[in-house]
Amino acid sequence: MNKLADDCFNQVEDLMSTAEALAVLRDRIVTVTQDRLEQLPLAQAQGRILAADVTSALDVPPHDNSAVDGYALRHEDLEPDGPTRLAVQGRSAAGHPFEGKVTAGQTVRIFTGAVMPTGADTVVMQEDVEQVAGYLTIPPGLKLGANRRHQGEDTKQGDVVLRRGRRLRPQDLGLAASVGHGALTVYRPLKVGVFSTGDELAEPGAALPVGSVYDANRQILMALITGLGAEVSDLGILPDDADAVRAGLDGAAKTHDLLLTSGGVSVGDEDHVRGAVEALGHLNFWRLAIKPGRPLALGQVGGAAFVGLPGNPVAATVCFLRFARPLILGLAGAVDLDPVLYRVTADFDYEKKAGRREWLRARLDCAAGRGPRAVLFRPLGSGIINSLVQTHGLVEIPEDVTQVKAGEPVDFLSFDEVAS
Ligand code: AMP
Ligand code: MG
Repeated sequence: MNKLADDCFNQVEDLMSTAEALAVLRDRIVTVTQDRLEQLPLAQAQGRILAADVTSALDVPPHDNSAVDGYALRHEDLEPDGPTRLAVQGRSAAGHPFEGKVTAGQTVRIFTGAVMPTGADTVVMQEDVEQVAGYLTIPPGLKLGANRRHQGEDTKQGDVVLRRGRRLRPQDLGLAASVGHGALTVYRPLKVGVFSTGDELAEPGAALPVGSVYDANRQILMALITGLGAEVSDLGILPDDADAVRAGLDGAAKTHDLLLTSGGVSVGDEDHVRGAVEALGHLNFWRLAIKPGRPLALGQVGGAAFVGLPGNPVAATVCFLRFARPLILGLAGAVDLDPVLYRVTADFDYEKKAGRREWLRARLDCAAGRGPRAVLFRPLGSGIINSLVQTHGLVEIPEDVTQVKAGEPVDFLSFDEVAS
């Protein structure tokens, strides 16, 4: 980013706000994997995106059952004001229902998850009773229907339990299993190719030539994309050379749904990505009223979508999480694209320019007895990779705010929400 561009930062009317950018993104996104479906067993479906609603074929639980270990009985047999004595006759264990019927004065030994015997409507916990020689003494006060779970209280037959476009979480797989589905229809993974750009970049593990830095962005970005359930190709480093960038993007566009680059998108002499994308396809916009991160390029190269992230690692990561992530999820078929921001208390004073949105890395201090306080990481520079590592997430400060004072509420985007 050169000096002149920095000065131009004040002219926010020339820039696009985060909300506008996200609205444009939403507008342009189509599910490119629409016709690429596969059936996956539940054990392989974690993190994938559902391509069809999941409907329950049965009530869950399928039968009334006991919530505790105890004794099933007829509530009407209980004395309202004193202890009741009932004969223990029969047993209902999980998976082994009692075949008979509970009649007046009887009780059936029952265990958690076991089917409620016919005739019984209430369960008394074993801890609350005394059993002597086949007879149970029950203290007064047990409520009608106590400790009894009802058929269908979790899910009713015919309920849509998971909707198309949902990214499957572990508990979703459990719910699908509970309603009888052993496999789910999901979209095939989005194919995403990741390039780094810059003559100064070297591969970690190799020797570092004078003037070079190791390529950090590609590792961050590839791992983030894998975490979204997409299939990532490592496309290496593009040199600062117009023809090479163009050839690299052109070739990769044929086999990927989305190409992602970092670096090379500002207006320096060595920033060739923008020109290459414009020559090969379209560039929708590239100037955002944000910090860190400007510039950001979004467009198309042939049949592939294109995102050009800034080069500085923090800027690349922030822009990925806020802009590329929803794009990737949307292209892959997900419905819920926006991360949840939590309100925390600022533990810092901060001043900023009006008109742009800023993200600051912060650690959450959750001292006992009070809510989380966001402690800023310093230095603030967008090249400081440690600022991403030694923190829990990003404080997001909206455009109109010019000052944050310690003790005020701020929005917080947790890395656990978007980057794990
Ligand atoms: P650029 O946008 O290409 O001018 O890059 C901005 C800054 O980010 C420069 O200091 C680059 O060296 C640095 N940078 C670009 N790409 C990477 C990368 N993949 N890993 C680490 N630093 C990078
Ligand atoms: Mg560069």
